[in-house]
Amino acid sequence: MSAKPKVAFYWCASCGGCEETVVDLNEDILKVVEAVDIVLWPVALDFKRRDVEAMADGEIAVSFINGAVRLSEQEEWVELLRRKSNLVVAFGSCAHLGGIPGLGNVTNRELVFERKYTAVPTIDNPTRIFPSQVVTVDGHTLELPRFYDTVKTLGQTVDVDYYLPGCPPPSNLVWDAVTAILEGKLPQRGAVLAPNKALCDTCSRNETKPETLTIQEFKRAATSTPDPQECLLAQGYVCMGPATRSGCGERCINANMPCRGCFGPPDGVVDQGAKFLSAIASMISATDGEEVERIIGGIEDPLGTFYRFSLPSSLLGRTRIATGG
Ligand code: SF4
Ligand code: SF4
Repeated sequence: MSAKPKVAFYWCASCGGCEETVVDLNEDILKVVEAVDIVLWPVALDFKRRDVEAMADGEIAVSFINGAVRLSEQEEWVELLRRKSNLVVAFGSCAHLGGIPGLGNVTNRELVFERKYTAVPTIDNPTRIFPSQVVTVDGHTLELPRFYDTVKTLGQTVDVDYYLPGCPPPSNLVWDAVTAILEGKLPQRGAVLAPNKALCDTCSRNETKPETLTIQEFKRAATSTPDPQECLLAQGYVCMGPATRSGCGERCINANMPCRGCFGPPDGVVDQGAKFLSAIASMISATDGEEVERIIGGIEDPLGTFYRFSLPSSLLGRTRIATGG
């Protein structure tokens, strides 16, 4: 039997970008493969659930799980991996905070299905056929996973030991995490494996951010081009830097795009969206209510902007239209 630590990768409700990050380790992935036995990686290797079920509890040294939890199948998998793993790492924004799939919490299963299977222009479904949990065709019964009304983070489903933030996490942070695990140099359980500073503190444009910042108008990078040197928030672009953890290498800022908040908040901030909302509320420069409304009206989709990555993990959690499970 191999003495190498066993490592599993699994994906739940995700786009696959986090899997790309593992591949983006480039030649370092060979060092990982040399140092560990990968025992599960559905995107790349053909291991089955029964292979994991056959392992002893705690036999897997670490499971890296990306994606939010929205299906009963995902819930079963993460519970299985939790049992079989010594450490569980929530890998990427969706597992960490809910991520983009977590925006499904502004609606419910019925409305998601209605939209997906009838309303989108590319769908032709005149008899309104929807996926059922149990389908029988020619005497054969197929059971599909249950699609929950509410999207959960990994930490809302099973105990999580560490969090690797980002959409997706940058390869250098992944490499640092793998090295720390292999060398047994991990921080306190529950830590987010990225610097505990706000993005503004490390941003190359920080010097152009005024001490007292005022906003008279919000702008969108989709319809105007920001000055590439100046603080984006000072220019009126909704940049989540003040409420977002650093460690991403300012990938968006370097591309002249405002931070969207994918790293989540620094330690001590319970609700990233509320923190940012309170920050910009103090920056709005207006003399009357009408002007405040005009300025705020310049933010397209405030919920989707302030909680783009963090709705399930926020104090809000979801809107109040849930009907079922
Ligand atoms: S608000 Fe954005 S652009 Fe300005 S300093 Fe912070 S991260 Fe940089
Ligand atoms: S700048 Fe913000 S949105 Fe972009 S990668 Fe960094 S944390 Fe994520």
